[in-house]
Amino acid sequence: MKLYFREFSESEKEMNFGPKDGWFRHAVLSVDETPIAPEGANQERPMSLRVVTHKTEDIYWICGEIRTEIQVHCSRCGEPIRLRFQPKFQHLVSQNPKIAESPIPTKGASRRSNPIRFDGDDHQDSDVVLVEEDYLDLSAVVAEHLNIEIPLQPTCQDATNVECENALSELLQPKSPVQNNPFSVLKDFSTSKKE
Ligand SMILES: [Zn+2]
Repeated sequence: MKLYFREFSESEKEMNFGPKDGWFRHAVLSVDETPIAPEGANQERPMSLRVVTHKTEDIYWICGEIRTEIQVHCSRCGEPIRLRFQPKFQHLVSQNPKIAESPIPTKGASRRSNPIRFDGDDHQDSDVVLVEEDYLDLSAVVAEHLNIEIPLQPTCQDATNVECENALSELLQPKSPVQNNPFSVLKDFSTSKKE
């Protein structure tokens, strides 16, 4: 998915993408630790992308927010888990070397018109990156920002807020028959409803 700079204007343009947008779906699934064919029936998951673009002079602004889940393996028990991510990103690019060499743009107008709020805000401002192409590859941006989110050693706890079943039972009660705790059903119920 290419965003061509010639289509940018000074007024903001918002675009929204979902699982029916093939390029976006493919970009998300490509980040999975165990990619399955995109046609696979088990690949349903929340998947949305909001992108807002505009330009100020020679700088093209691409702000976005991704919401989806990525499949990895738990580093403790090896079970496949889904991690929910909601990264926001902001790319400032220019084809003008003089602009790109300069530090962060400080013009109030640019700052103010950023439509997507960032955690911690100002320090998230990025430098202007010089590009030779006349477009930005949004597929690569999506994959890049999801990859950054994945912890080095993801665990079940990252995915469900519950410790790994296997690792936990080994730790506390090796070979214990007391696994038929009637309240364990409640535990699963409450955590699986977590949003
Ligand atoms: Zn685990």
